[in-house]
Amino acid sequence: MSSPTPGALAQLIADRTGVAVDVGSTSMLSAFDVYRRLAQRFVAGRTVLIGDAAHQVSPIGGQGMNLGWLDATELVPIIRASLVDGDDVGRELAAFGVRRRRAAATAARQAHLNMALGRPLPRRVLTARNALFGRVNAVPAVHNTIARTFTMQ
Ligand SMILES: Cc1cc2nc3c(=O)[nH]c(=O)nc-3n(C[C@H](O)[C@H](O)[C@H](O)COP(=O)(O)OP(=O)(O)OC[C@H]3O[C@@H](n4cnc5c(N)ncnc54)[C@H](O)[C@@H]3O)c2cc1C
Repeated sequence: MSSPTPGALAQLIADRTGVAVDVGSTSMLSAFDVYRRLAQRFVAGRTVLIGDAAHQVSPIGGQGMNLGWLDATELVPIIRASLVDGDDVGRELAAFGVRRRRAAATAARQAHLNMALGRPLPRRVLTARNALFGRVNAVPAVHNTIARTFTMQ
């Protein structure tokens, strides 16, 4: 929905869930596209990519900005060691790039899975899938894995 309106959103909710929401009570509305991008490398010489410049993940798990903050938190001591202590930090930077790219790839995969599970499906397929999930989810080990994945742990 590139130009959302309260009426169009209410219609979408009604179509997907059968629930009628009060259009008049809308106080704000915005739309966004979902991107999944991962830079091939985060470090090139003295140039470092962090945040969305390095990785864009679906917002479904609330991970994007957290990943960026974690990038920054890990990068600061490396910059400090270079600028303040005069250390050669080439190796630390390379390891940082690999570590943070791996973390971003994991978050992107989990968010992608959660997105896929939330996509609309024909009612019959959805009912069958939910019944299957309900049964499988009764197994404690599976239940815990699903819970961890869905909450992006
Ligand atoms: C709907 C939605 C919900 C989200 N919810 C969450 C959440 O709950 N938790 C979470 O952790 N993350 C969430 N995110 C992700 C989060 O918003 C982003 O990961 C985060 O904003 C990225 O921060 P950033 O500083 O790396 O990049 P940006 O926020 O994109 O900032 C980059 C800035 O650089 C500026 N800029 C670009 N080019 C130039 C230029 N040439 N010169 C100068 N300035 C420039 C841009 O204008 C922008 O202000 C959500 C995202 C969306 C879309």
